[in-house]
This record gives sequence, structure tokens and C-alpha cells, in this order.
Amino acid sequence: MKPLIVDTLASGKGVRHSTRDVIGAGPRTIAGVLEVKGFEPVISPVEKFLKDRVEGFDVLFLSGMSSDVQAIQRSVRKWRKNHNGPVVIGGPAGSEPERVLRRTGGDIAVTGEGEYTLVELLMGGLGEGVFPDNVESVKGISYRVKKRITVNPLRPLQPKNVYEEYPPSTDTIANYPLYKSARVYVETVRGCSNFNRARIGPVGSACTFCEQCTQAGLTERYDCPVGIPPGCGYCSVPSLYGPPKSRPSKLIIEETRKLLALGVHRIVLSAPGFLDYQREALVEPEPLTDPRSPEPNYEALEELLSGLTGLPQVASGNASIMIENIKAALVTERAASILGKYLRDTPVSVGFETGSDEHSRLLGRPDTPSETLVSLRRLKDAGMKPYVYFIHGLPGQTSETVYETVKMIDASMRAGSDRVILYRFLSLPASSFSQCPSGAPASQDQLSKRIYDAALEANMEQKQELVSDRVRVVVAERYDRDRRFWVAYPMLHGPVVLVKDGNIVAGDVLLVKITGVASERMVYGAVIR
Ligand code: SF4
Repeated sequence: MKPLIVDTLASGKGVRHSTRDVIGAGPRTIAGVLEVKGFEPVISPVEKFLKDRVEGFDVLFLSGMSSDVQAIQRSVRKWRKNHNGPVVIGGPAGSEPERVLRRTGGDIAVTGEGEYTLVELLMGGLGEGVFPDNVESVKGISYRVKKRITVNPLRPLQPKNVYEEYPPSTDTIANYPLYKSARVYVETVRGCSNFNRARIGPVGSACTFCEQCTQAGLTERYDCPVGIPPGCGYCSVPSLYGPPKSRPSKLIIEETRKLLALGVHRIVLSAPGFLDYQREALVEPEPLTDPRSPEPNYEALEELLSGLTGLPQVASGNASIMIENIKAALVTERAASILGKYLRDTPVSVGFETGSDEHSRLLGRPDTPSETLVSLRRLKDAGMKPYVYFIHGLPGQTSETVYETVKMIDASMRAGSDRVILYRFLSLPASSFSQCPSGAPASQDQLSKRIYDAALEANMEQKQELVSDRVRVVVAERYDRDRRFWVAYPMLHGPVVLVKDGNIVAGDVLLVKITGVASERMVYGAVIR
């Protein structure tokens, strides 16, 4: 069987705009299972798949998010033109299997963790390139036979040794045209420790305020007596992936070592909350369902980060290690100083989502906006570049919460934030807000527009401050809107840099001086070396 994996993650209708330099961990995870089972998978970014002539494959695997349904649909349509083999859809899109299978014409959707599910499907016939004959008994899938869709029961969470059994593929990274300059995600933690619940919305408003999810023991917090899904109302991670499950440091370091040897320059350690890393080891055998206590597992963090930053390419400054999200309540002085010691000058994102304390609690968030402000100061003092997240259009958004949010955007910049990342609320399946309508675009909602304008202003001011700074960048590709420029990504932190120079090739690492602001997302740079 010759498998093709098409990566549609964050591509919407089939074209990535702001996330062109991101390579998620999901497709390589699928490829890893297939390699262990003796197959030779090929990964194709969706843009390439839709453009190129593709033939000779037996099974199509599609990895995507709920917002990528159109890209998945286009991919299935193209596949069916000259292939008869089955189509399997995974990633977050698989969490609303009926909609996805109906809209895209796929055959099987995998919900939640996929490794063991895929192995069973391979044994049932997928390994021979045909629709498996065991679909009725495989947990965690939904499947379509003609117009009838069957949703099987969910699969229990996989044990931790799945990480040893099925390491992600590394060789397939070279299937991505931009792999040398892209941020390549390496899975570090799966699942989230926030088992607080949302108290608003059609589901959350059933809350009786018994506080089982916030004050009971770790095992009791797992369930809510009235069935409200765990986690922040807008997020589906705890529902789909359960409490945190960390990968052993030796596997993460080995995977990173191989990726760097293949030419990757920028690694991001993916985790819904990086400071949850191996925190579960401190409470085992109970599940880690408390987002605040115990404190981070400092020894495990040191072991992982010292191993990664000791790799030759990182130590010499030719490659970088970054993290993504952390929970503010876990940013103790000690945690901040460990991050600063190993990841100095790299970005780290902390979520506010709203500026209102009360709104934050009703959303089920693990910390308050005031705590997030404190964490920003600690991170800044430790030498990190903190970014902050906000969301507009959330359930419960009022003129008061917007007022508090605009104030907090301002306060976060004063506390040392380097960038505001603003999202529009999207209703996710398997989250507490799955029945809430998604937020309107900021241009169509007066309240959301106030948040949007405040974030835009903060980011523009920040970019002006970058002018004259020197940054090390990795060259990616020609800028498609003006071919005189190359697009380059900062090795450590900062906006996309447009560089003009005659002697540049993709993969070059350059030192540039920022000369001006091109837009909210981009600056101009002149090559120094
Ligand atoms: S959401 Fe938490 S406080 Fe509300 S009913 Fe469920 S367990 Fe109790």
C-alpha cells in the first residue's frame, strides 16, 4: 500500500496565508505509525497537492482542522478523479465526523488520538489499500458507506507508551518545500490540565456551582455532575485528548536531533501548556486535572531544555528552540528563570482571551487577567519575548468586558508584551461552546472592532520600535506580491522580514537590520551579513 498524507492544517479553503511557515506535528505522527508498520508515506502540503499531478497512491490521509473543511473537500474531489482508494480524515476536523464526512465525501474520520486506531484500520484492510472490513469494531472512528454515516464509540485515552511505540516520522519533513525555514512542531505534551469548566453558554449555564471541578481532588475533577465538558469553553483539547501526557525527553531530543540534521532550523515544542511538561509525573497515578497545582516539574523542564539547547546546531546559533503556550498561573519566578536560561529572546505566548476577571472565570479559564499580567513581567525580566492572546466575539462579550479587554491590551504592552495575537471566536465541536454561534468578523461587530483596533494599534507601535534592530533570519522563498523581495523568518522572534538582495537562496541564515515597517505583519530588512 502506498499512502499519501495531505496536510491541510490551517489552510481554510486550501491556501495558507499567515501560517505558511508552520509545519504541524500531526501529519508526521501519522507518517510515523505508517513507517513503523513498514509503509513509505509521502506528505504533501495541500497547496502542492491541489496544484501538482498526483498518481500512484492507494490511500489518502488528510490532516486538518474544523476550519479546513473546504480544503479537505477539494482534496477529496481531486483524489477521486484518478484514485479509487479510501480517504481517511484525522486531526481536529475528525472531532465533528458527521459534518466532515458528509461535506467532504471522505470515507473514515478519526476522532481524538489516532495511533492505535490507525493500526487497527491497517490490520482490517487499509494496509492493502482497501476500505477496512473491521470498521464496526474500531473505536474512535466514524465511517460512511454510501450515504449512511456510522459514529462508533470514542476510544479510551492511549497510554503513555504509545510515544515509544510510534515515534513521529522525521524523513518526511523534507516533503515540505519550506522545511528549512519553517517552524517545525515537535510534540512535547498532549492534553491539558485545565479541568475547570465554562459556566455560560447553552451547556455551561447548567452549572450548579458545586465547585467539584475547581476544588475537589484530582480524580473527582475529571467529571462534572451535569456533564459540562472540561476546559475553557472555547477549547476542545481536554475533551478530546484528556489530561496532559508528556513525551519522554530522550524521544523529543532524538527527534529534534534528526530534524536539525536534515536541515530544519526552527523547532517549536508543541504543548497546549509547556509548563505542564511532566507535571503529571508529580501526581501519578491520579490524573493531572488541576491547572495550578502542583508547581511545574522543574527538574524535568531543565533536563529537556538543557538536552535540546546542547545540540550543536542550537548551541552555535544556527538553529533555535521555541515553545508556544504556557499557563500564567504556572509562571513562578523559578519557572520564568528556567525558560529565560535556556530560551532567552524567544517568544512565549500567554493567554488572556478577555481582560475581565469575571468573564475569565465564567469562560472556565485557569487563571485571571491580573495573574497573566504578573506572568508577563516575570517572563520579560527573565529575558523572554512574551506574546499575548486575546479573543473577540466570545460568548459573554459585553461592552464592559470589551472595555476591560482594551484596557488589558494596553496594560499587557506596558508589562512587556511584544505582540498581541487576536483571534475571532470559532465554535469548536467537543467544546463547551460547541452550540454557540461563532463570533462575527470584527468589521461587522462594533464591540469586537474596538478590541481589533486596540490590538492593531499595539502591534504597529511595537513594530516601529523594532526599526534599527538587528535580527538573525532564515530565508524562505520569494515574496509572491513583489518578486524583488525574499520572505525571511526570524530565527528567534519577531515579524516576517522582507529582504532585498541579489545573492540569497532559500535556507540561508542572515543577519539583517530592520529598516522599516511594511504592514502589521511584516517589516523590511537590509542584509548585514
Ligand atoms: S462546571 Fe464545575 S462547578 Fe459547575 S456543575 Fe460542573 S463540576 Fe460543578
